[in-house]
Amino acid sequence: MVVKPPVRFQVCPQCGWSEEQGHRWDRRRQIYKTFWRSTRCPNCDVEPVRECPNCSAPIPKADADACERCGETYPWRKD
Ligand SMILES: [Zn+2]
Ligand SMILES: [Zn+2]
Repeated sequence: MVVKPPVRFQVCPQCGWSEEQGHRWDRRRQIYKTFWRSTRCPNCDVEPVRECPNCSAPIPKADADACERCGETYPWRKD
């Protein structure tokens, strides 16, 4: 049985732009390979954040306000 990779997001810390992590099926190895489509925010040209800056947990939702693991409010949600 093949388990799909968990949904993860990258978020721009400046403008809030977000994108879901992509995945594709690797037929030869019978696994899903994950990849990020963008390496820069298309609006601000800065590197998106892909994990909690406090505990390195993945970002599970595009509009998440705080980390599910450590409870820390994401810096881009604070203002
Ligand atoms: Zn941005
Ligand atoms: Zn965290």
